[in-house]
Amino acid sequence: TTMLWNDRLVKKEEIKLSIEDRGYQFGDGVYEVIKVYNGSMFTVTEHIDRFYESAEKINIVIPYTKDVLHKMVYDLIEANEIVNGYVYFQITRGSSPRAHAFPQPTTEPVFIAYTMKGERSIENFEKGVKAKFVEDIRWLRCDIKSLNLLGNVLAKEAAQQAGCYEAIQHRGEIVTEGSSSNMYGIKDGVLYTHPTNNLILHGITRRVIMSLCEEIGLSVIEEAFTTEQAIDMDEFFMSSTSSEITPIIQIDDSIIGNGKPGEWTRKLQAAFDARVQQLGSL
Ligand code: PLP
Repeated sequence: TTMLWNDRLVKKEEIKLSIEDRGYQFGDGVYEVIKVYNGSMFTVTEHIDRFYESAEKINIVIPYTKDVLHKMVYDLIEANEIVNGYVYFQITRGSSPRAHAFPQPTTEPVFIAYTMKGERSIENFEKGVKAKFVEDIRWLRCDIKSLNLLGNVLAKEAAQQAGCYEAIQHRGEIVTEGSSSNMYGIKDGVLYTHPTNNLILHGITRRVIMSLCEEIGLSVIEEAFTTEQAIDMDEFFMSSTSSEITPIIQIDDSIIGNGKPGEWTRKLQAAFDARVQQLGSL
């Protein structure tokens, strides 16, 4: 397989990373994941914009223009002949003897990208999944798509240990987001989701969903809800680049609605599919 190592397409075996890379020692970097449908990247501009925003928030200067990065990633997808799958990329602050403060003089950032093949999880989309409440113990800059994912890792592990597909994280009573997804509840024909502040990642799929709600006439209130309100919702679902719109039919021991993906959720899924189809016809 071919990967990107800084601005070069190379074989995986050629890549040499330092044990003093700050990504390895401190999780000092940011990343993105973009879905490839039928050879095209979905919402690529939004993902690239967020990558630059995340980097800027931690003072990493990406040494390429957005257009150059877009082309590099596109060439990688072509080189690996990805039809359906993902492209992952990350940038770290670079390599320097271990010390917490930023290295002086500034190090060269290290960029890595690779692709993965993967089909859509149709069964989850159709049947829905179970989720588990997990206390949100992460830091207060969850808006940054940081390589520091220990809180997310522990939340997902706790969910999977309980036989659940995803964790629903909450700070005290307030539901924030999943371990790698955003969360939504629908009650009496209104969709509720946590506002985009420092406590959640501003999901790209979430932005698509906001536009789809307008398209299908579903009212949205971007207000946080509690765990108690969550289990009382008529419908519940999660969203992410890989999980798209996945219905949640059970949280811990509580069945949501009638235990099946809800009407509005299905409409949103259909509208999402139409967006993906549009991409293929470009
Ligand atoms: N929240 C977290 C913590 C995530 O890691 C992710 C994505 O992996 C999301 C939300 C969903 O974001 P997106 O729709 O951009 O994939």
